[in-house]
Amino acid sequence: MVHNFNSGPSILPKVVYEQAAQAIADFNGTGLSILELGHRTSHFQAVMDEAVALVKELMQLDANKEVLFLHGGASTQFFQVPFNLLPQGKKAAYLDCGMWGTKAIKDAKLYGDVQVLGSSKDKNYTYIPNNYTVDADAVYCHITSNNTVEGTQQHEWPDTQVPLISDMSSDILSRQLDFNRFGLIYAGAQKNIGAAGVNLVVVDKNMLGHNDRSMPPMLDYRQHIANGSMLNTPPVFAVYVCMLTLRWLKEMGGIAAIEPINQAKADLLYQALDRLPVFTPTVAKEDRSLMNAVWIMEDATLEALFLEQCKKEGMIGIKGHRSVGGFRASMYNAMPLSSVQALVQLMEHFAHTHG
Ligand code: PMP
Repeated sequence: MVHNFNSGPSILPKVVYEQAAQAIADFNGTGLSILELGHRTSHFQAVMDEAVALVKELMQLDANKEVLFLHGGASTQFFQVPFNLLPQGKKAAYLDCGMWGTKAIKDAKLYGDVQVLGSSKDKNYTYIPNNYTVDADAVYCHITSNNTVEGTQQHEWPDTQVPLISDMSSDILSRQLDFNRFGLIYAGAQKNIGAAGVNLVVVDKNMLGHNDRSMPPMLDYRQHIANGSMLNTPPVFAVYVCMLTLRWLKEMGGIAAIEPINQAKADLLYQALDRLPVFTPTVAKEDRSLMNAVWIMEDATLEALFLEQCKKEGMIGIKGHRSVGGFRASMYNAMPLSSVQALVQLMEHFAHTHG
């Protein structure tokens, strides 16, 4: 038995990879593998259309929102966002809450002025700053809703009229939000949406066209919209896996059904971390992530032993990010409660033997 706590690419529902495996052998009775399917065929168009429709339905998006599946991962959005939305000489506001947000800030500075709203670097990004004011003349305000590496999550949005942009790579579709509140949302697919190789972008049409920068078509959101995410060859298989995962989520009952399960998994793990003194959670309580829980051991010499026991019990991907150390359990939508129960059982056993 394997319990997949990988941070991304990460666990997928069994039904999804079983259906994907079937489509590799024979896509919908066409006699072709999905890997051989032309992207201009009606078969793939139907996949793309369904994936887009499912995103709109699950996120309850209003008519102004365009849904794109693009290449380049979330990291491409770090520069594609300011390239499109931050005209030269204008300013954008960014919250500095972790490794990924820092990279987004660095890229934005290539294109315009950046107001860094607040930073939790002083405490290794273990909290979300909340004492800041977004300049009214900023063209947008960028946040990272969930900091995958450090294990913090935004539970409140910046208090501003400026359009919000969020990197939601590691918590999209995991909790009910007013997604229409955002001018742009982006997320690498490899956690809650599907397979690695594609990136979801939800953009409000009103955000576009205010910038006269010359753009290569591949960087221009308007070109991708006009071409239905097929300006060039899309990552056909990755989009297909996204469509299957989105279908699975809809059949589960959508975000409203998955949110309490995510909450229950996180509660179970954080309660154990708070109860068992050998483990020390690193993040401020009010900013803890429901997706990625991070902790260290009170006695660092026990870390190798705990990791060894995790491996023995089939707990995969539990080692913390190299920049933070310790441990990280990622509990995305597809993770069953039973895997978190197994982890907590192991932690309790370990605490009793080594506490
Ligand atoms: N943002 C966040 C919050 C992430 O967790 C990651 C990857 N784990 C990225 C950006 C970068 O994504 P990609 O590797 O798809 O470029």
